[in-house]
Amino acid sequence: MIGTVTLNPAIDRRYNVDKLDINIVKRTSDYSATAGGKGLNVSRVVRILGEKVLAFGFLGGSEGDFIQRKISELGIKSYFINIKGTTRTCLNIIDELGDNIEILEGGPTITKDEENRLLKVFKSQIDNLDVVTLSGSLPKGIDNDIYGKLIKVINEKGKKAILDTSGRDLIVNLDSRPFLVKPNREELENIIGGVLNTEEDIKKSAKKILDLGAQNIAISLGSEGMYFFGKLGNFKVNIPKIKAINPVGSGDSSIAGFAYGISKNLDIIEVLKYANACGVANAMEKETGKIDVTVVNEILEKIEVVIL
Ligand code: ATP
Repeated sequence: MIGTVTLNPAIDRRYNVDKLDINIVKRTSDYSATAGGKGLNVSRVVRILGEKVLAFGFLGGSEGDFIQRKISELGIKSYFINIKGTTRTCLNIIDELGDNIEILEGGPTITKDEENRLLKVFKSQIDNLDVVTLSGSLPKGIDNDIYGKLIKVINEKGKKAILDTSGRDLIVNLDSRPFLVKPNREELENIIGGVLNTEEDIKKSAKKILDLGAQNIAISLGSEGMYFFGKLGNFKVNIPKIKAINPVGSGDSSIAGFAYGISKNLDIIEVLKYANACGVANAMEKETGKIDVTVVNEILEKIEVVIL
């Protein structure tokens, strides 16, 4: 079974309007509310791939109840800690030109007792998991080495941790030796503090992250595919050209593909094909964190993994 950790989930509310004017009341019947947060996107895609998921994190208030109901409907089992605070809502208002306004709430503050309850329930379930994904930024109040604490539990049991976060939250948790980290090019540039133009630039920056403790690193490049460096080898993944509809959540979908391939003990070349096929398939959907398995299987055939 694949475990997913979403420490700062959100209700993603989308409103489509004709035009983004200010000081005018807008009415619309084109709107949706979904269970969001990077880890929940991963959970959804893993479910679509047909694997069992156990989701962990924090939920609070009626917003938390809403998310719990939504993920249960998708067949995602979960051990969310019920918190005193209220789960956040993220708002996206989009007009007919494709312009949008996005408002992201900061989210609740997690108490020490809530953090300890999460660690306890996670430890009680680790034997049931093969691979665990840990995604997204950290909520307020929580120790910033929380991912490291969870990864230690994962590694002690010989299971595999995939860490997908950025900036300081990534750096401070690398010494726990996650099996895989997956910054995109921009996130890696922000960490290194420079522009990464060539393969050599990317390779050098990847080495720095490996030296800090990651066992493997995948650098996703949007429509240009992915680089991978680490103890499983060095690779460039070339993907087919497609008509992208909405690439938001492609990174989360590629994490789901990695978790799927690794949990099935596939060869690294096959794992990389799954990760990228899921990312590409997500970019072809309107919804975030959604794939069509038939499309994934078609794309798998068109992906080329080059050994560096
Ligand atoms: P997000 O944060 O929105 O989840 P990300 O920035 O972490 O995304 P990306 O690099 O955009 O991740 O995408 C991950 C993978 O998805 C890429 O390596 C690629 O395989 C695929 N992908 C992303 N965007 C496109 C696109 N426009 N066309 C084809 N494939 C794409």
